[in-house]
Amino acid sequence: MTSNFDCQLFVIGGGSGGVRAARIAANLGARVLIAESFRYGGTCVIRGCVPKKLLVYASHYAQEFADAAGFGWSVPPATFSWPKLIAAKDAEISKLSAMYEKNLQAAGVQVLQGAARVLDTHTVEVNGQRIRAEHILVATGGTPFLPQLPGIEHAITSNEVFNLPAQPKRVLIVGGGYIAVEFAGIFHGLGSEVTLAYRGEQILRGFDDDLRSHLHDEMAQKGIRILLHTDVTGIEELPDASLQVALRNAAQQGDSVSASQAVLQGASEVASVGVFDAVLYATGRIPNTQGMGLAEAGVALDKTGGVVVDAYGHSSVPSIHAVGDVTNRIALTPVAIREGAALAQTLFGAAPTAADLTTVPSAVFSQPQIGTVGLTEAQALAKVAQIDIYRANFRAMGRGLAGGKERTLVKLIVDSASQRVLGAHMVGDDAAEIIQSLAVAIRMGATKADFDATVALHPTSAEEFVTLKEKTTRSRPAQANA
Ligand code: NDP
Repeated sequence: MTSNFDCQLFVIGGGSGGVRAARIAANLGARVLIAESFRYGGTCVIRGCVPKKLLVYASHYAQEFADAAGFGWSVPPATFSWPKLIAAKDAEISKLSAMYEKNLQAAGVQVLQGAARVLDTHTVEVNGQRIRAEHILVATGGTPFLPQLPGIEHAITSNEVFNLPAQPKRVLIVGGGYIAVEFAGIFHGLGSEVTLAYRGEQILRGFDDDLRSHLHDEMAQKGIRILLHTDVTGIEELPDASLQVALRNAAQQGDSVSASQAVLQGASEVASVGVFDAVLYATGRIPNTQGMGLAEAGVALDKTGGVVVDAYGHSSVPSIHAVGDVTNRIALTPVAIREGAALAQTLFGAAPTAADLTTVPSAVFSQPQIGTVGLTEAQALAKVAQIDIYRANFRAMGRGLAGGKERTLVKLIVDSASQRVLGAHMVGDDAAEIIQSLAVAIRMGATKADFDATVALHPTSAEEFVTLKEKTTRSRPAQANA
C-alpha cells in the first residue's frame, strides 16, 4: 500500500458480497474498512432469505396440523400469533446481524456505521470523514422496484412485509417472480386470503414451463387465487383503512383467460375491483447506486443503475469494483458471496480469480417448493439439436394418508447426442435440498447413464431422479438450426 492511502480496500455495503470480500481481503493481509448504512447482514439476513425462510417454516404448520389427523393424531384447534412470530424472527435476525459484525472485527476489518459516498476514484466519504482507499468495492445490493400508478404509496414491498404490526387477512400480491410466489405461500399458510396478480401468461417467467404450470396448479388447488394477464391500475385507501384495488385484465388478443381468472368482486371480464388489507408489490429489484457519486467518478452504469463489471468484478474505473445484486446480474446470495471472495483473491491473493457461475442452482421457497439447476427445456433446445426429456409426476409417500392431493414433479433434460444431463428440476417437498446435491453431479458432467447406474435410496422422492425411464424426444425447430 502506498502511503497516501488510508486503506487498501474500502467496502461499501455490509451484505453477503461485501462482508465476504472484506473478510477474505483482511485474511489475505489487506487493511480493510467497511461501511453499512443500515444493519450488517444485508438483504439476505435482514429482509430476505433468512426471515423469509423462517416465515415459510411458520406457514407450514397449519397443513401439518391438518395432515396429522390422517396419522391418528387429534390436534386441538391451533391458534397463531403474528406478533409472536415477528418478535421471534426479529430476535434471530438481531443475533445473526451481530454475528456478521463480530466476524468482520475478528478478521481485523474496521467496521463503520453510515452511508458511504464515492467522491473520486480513490476517495470515499462516510459520516463526514474522507477516506483514501487504494480500491473501493461497491456492494450495496438492491432495492424493491415499484411501478408508478395512482395510490402506489399504499403498497408495501418486501422491505415492510417482515414487520407489519398485524397479519393482513386479505392480501393482494402483485408480481409473478420469486418473492410473489413465496409470500403467496407464506400468507396462505398463515391463514390469510391470498390473491396473486401477474401481468403475464404464467408465473415464474424464465423457469422451466412444466415447473411453472405445475406450481400454478398446486397453488391454485390449495386455495390461492392466481389472476394471470392482470394489471393493477390504481389503489385507493377506504375509510376503514382497507385498500380498494382496481385491476385490469391485460390478456392479449388470442390469449385464453378463463372467466374465473378475471372475476373478483362484481367484476366484468376486463376490469374489476378487489378490497384487501395489504397490497404487496414484488415486481423486481433495482441496484442501489443512486446518489453514491459513481457516475460522477466515471463508473459506467447500466440502464437500471447497475454497476457494469467484467468477470472479475472490475468496473470501468480501475480502482472501483462491484459484486452482488448491485451489478444487476444473478441476484442470489451465494453468487454474491462467490463474487466477493473472487474479488478479494484477485486484488490481494495469488492470482486473478473469477467466480465460476456456470452451474448455479436455485430454489423458490414456494409451497410446494421448487429446486432447479441447469437448463430449462427451452434453453436446452436453443443450445443443442435434440433433447431427451424425462418426467415423473407422483404423489409423495405419506400424502395419501394425510388426504392431500399435492403432487410432486421431477424432470431431467438430457442432450440426446452426448447423453449429458443438462438440467434437473423439481417441484415438491425438499426440492431445494435434493437439487443442491444433484447440482454437483450436473456440474461434473454426469450423463443419464450415471444417473441410471446410481442405486436408488428408498423410499424417497429423490430416488425418482435415478429411476426415470419414460422419455420424450424434442428437436430444435428446423429454422433454428440454420
Ligand atoms: P423477480 O424478477 O423474480 O420477479 C419480478 C416480477 O414482477 C415478475 O413476475 C415481473 O413480470 C413482475 N413485474 C416487473 N415489473 C412489473 C411491473 N411494472 N408491473 C407488474 N409486474 C411487474 O423479482 P422479485 O421481486 O420476486 O425478486 C427479486 C430477486 O430477488 C429475484 O429475481 C431473485 O434473484 C432474488 N430472490 C431470490 C429468492 C430465492 O433464491 N429463493 C427469493 C426472493 C428473491 P415479468 O415476468 O412479466 O417480467
